[in-house]
Amino acid sequence: MDANQNLLDEKLADLLKQAAEVAAQIQAKEQGVGTPHFDQIEIPAHEVGQRLSQMIQSTRATDVALQQAGQMKCPDCGKECRVEPTRRQVHSMDGPIELTESVAHCRRCRRSFFPSA
Ligand SMILES: [Zn+2]
Repeated sequence: MDANQNLLDEKLADLLKQAAEVAAQIQAKEQGVGTPHFDQIEIPAHEVGQRLSQMIQSTRATDVALQQAGQMKCPDCGKECRVEPTRRQVHSMDGPIELTESVAHCRRCRRSFFPSA
């Protein structure tokens, strides 16, 4: 692990700690006075984790798609085709996400293909 990765890990740990504190404050406000059942703590905490997962997946997929922008040869005819990012809804294990992926379309063959495939 290099120095930059260490800094990123520390930044993530800091931000997660802040997010956990804010999420706990929101729970406390919503639950009011009294002792909540543990389910009332666990379930909303898990939902926050799923939201974070959805955001990471969407951000990372967009970054990868943008790196693949440019030109690519059609696997059938070899014609250079422009690679463009497209968006679609996907159901991830943590819920729906807006996924950005790179797709190229060959007008000659009338087919689309994915540069990552
Ligand atoms: Zn083609």
